[in-house]
Amino acid sequence: MDYLPFTKPTLDEATIQGVVEVLRSGWLASGPNVHALEKALSEYLDGRIVRTLTSATGALEVALQVCGIGTGDEVITPAMSFAATPNVIMRVGARPVFVDVDLDTRNIDLNQAEAAITPRTKAIMPVHFSGLPVDMDTLYDLAKRHNLRVIEDAAHAIGSSWQGKKIGSFGDIVSFSFHPNKNMTTIEGGALSFADPDEAKRFDLLRFHGISRDAEGNMDVSVAGGKYNLSDVAARVGVGQLPLLDGFNTRRRELVAHYFKHFSTDPACLLPARGDEGHSWHMFAPLLPLDQLNISRKQFIDGMHQHGLGVGIHYPALHLFSLYRELGYREGDFPNAEKIGRETVTLPLFPAMTTEDVERVCAAGRTIIQDAKK
Ligand SMILES: *Cc1c(COP(=O)(O)O)cnc(C)c1O
Repeated sequence: MDYLPFTKPTLDEATIQGVVEVLRSGWLASGPNVHALEKALSEYLDGRIVRTLTSATGALEVALQVCGIGTGDEVITPAMSFAATPNVIMRVGARPVFVDVDLDTRNIDLNQAEAAITPRTKAIMPVHFSGLPVDMDTLYDLAKRHNLRVIEDAAHAIGSSWQGKKIGSFGDIVSFSFHPNKNMTTIEGGALSFADPDEAKRFDLLRFHGISRDAEGNMDVSVAGGKYNLSDVAARVGVGQLPLLDGFNTRRRELVAHYFKHFSTDPACLLPARGDEGHSWHMFAPLLPLDQLNISRKQFIDGMHQHGLGVGIHYPALHLFSLYRELGYREGDFPNAEKIGRETVTLPLFPAMTTEDVERVCAAGRTIIQDAKK
């Protein structure tokens, strides 16, 4: 039987042809397609100021620099996410202050976030986990009351919306990823959505060597900028992807509805929060009932592989990595993040899947779990 990966990008033929044209055009670095992608993203996000760059990891790091966050500052962030989220906080010299996530939504627990605020706290960096928005009213109310910046890690949430408004169409600074696994891709790449035009200008300097030019074309370097600009080849992929994004996300929601229907006959696994139409379902990750089984998660995943099915792990708890243990974090600090880290399995979900694929995944999973019951 064909191997079904846990994720796979969908690239249409017109986009592939468009990329070939860019390759033949002689202009491969940032150019007309970067402008076109930024304009299209801005329109998609209700006219916000949008800038692209080579990755979301870079986007988050430069966003922290734009906010002037560095040595001695604290940034509150969830204990369960991809390593990029806390790593960039470390990279600018600040300290990630972890708080636990909610077991149902997998998003940062905002009550615990508020309790973690100190005089050194400068920002909160929440993650819209798997495309389910955090409670934006509570988040921005908290940020306003404590005078904190918000840098949203929306790597999973392009096309998600909160009460009818797209994530990234409002808020402080919002970061998207266009890695091939994400809901749309530029191969590698990311984007930032800004509320403040002056911060977007500061970003422009940091994105490209700190270089600016005056009216006569004289060059100046005013800050030690980095090198994060997207290539026109990559941007052309994004130009082709964005018009397909809403359709991709609708398809993801349909497939997830199918997963929920099939899982209702096997209540052993803890399913993620259902969300509403604003959930872009970057991934579908139930928790295994390991306390009821005679097998480990690795054995479950190996079993799925034997059925030709790919399974991911998103994510191990961050505070248990050696880098973060060095900050003093220990086992037991964040029970929900740790439980998710131990039990989560990401099942196949991408727009080109069929409902039969979903049934195949569910059947294989059920067989493995039934055979392993204590
Ligand atoms: C993928 C991802 C990132 C990093 O995105 P890149 O574009 O690969 O740098 C950051 N945060 C989260 C939650 C992610 O899933």
